[in-house]
Amino acid sequence: MKSSIQNNLIYIKSALPPQVTLVAVSKTHPPEIIMEAYNAGQRVFGENRVQELITKQPLLPPDIEWHLIGHLQTNKVKYIAPFVSVIHSVDSVKLLLEVNKEAHKNNRVIPCLLQMYIATEETKFGFSEEEIIKALNENPPDLFPNISICGVMGMATFSDDDVLVRNEFSYLKSVFDKLKNRFFASSSYFKEISMGMSGDYKIALEEGSTMVRIGSLIFGSGF
Ligand SMILES: *Cc1c(COP(=O)(O)O)cnc(C)c1O
Repeated sequence: MKSSIQNNLIYIKSALPPQVTLVAVSKTHPPEIIMEAYNAGQRVFGENRVQELITKQPLLPPDIEWHLIGHLQTNKVKYIAPFVSVIHSVDSVKLLLEVNKEAHKNNRVIPCLLQMYIATEETKFGFSEEEIIKALNENPPDLFPNISICGVMGMATFSDDDVLVRNEFSYLKSVFDKLKNRFFASSSYFKEISMGMSGDYKIALEEGSTMVRIGSLIFGSGF
């Protein structure tokens, strides 16, 4: 018999176009629960806290691609630089410099997304559109040889207002297009728009998401 985690994955996958990456957000869930999703074929997992990520990673199979999706402090980059697959939450030039440095030490190129602030809530991290354009003007992407900047990430307002959420996702897509034209026209890497969670991923897909980060719809609430 299939577990509910396996059934949840099958249900979500059936709603995703084949080119969209499903990041299974496993924060708060122990390794044995993560293994249920792994055994159902899931290989991409997201964690939002460095400490939790580095505790679980050695206990789980080495072919898992770990995505860091939560706020990252510069002094913690060194702990994840040896193995992290994608960092979704790069929100400052200082962090770009630090990731580049630690990636270099590990002889790696680390894929990163630029986190954009798109919500009306005050609590969300990220660059504004003006900040990101200024940052890239002053620090062209080739200053970071050990980073591949692969796109943008954003979190919509936590709200039942579908129109608001859709507008925020559509805005993120428009910023992505602008950055692509202006700074990444010749980059084959800059193609990802990480947007959409359990409650809003269908809207995100309609607005052009290429990576959805889904936790509670797969694993339950976790408490
Ligand atoms: C927890 C989290 C998610 C997943 O949230 P769900 O609503 O459980 O799907 C996605 N992105 C980030 C940054 C998160 O912290």
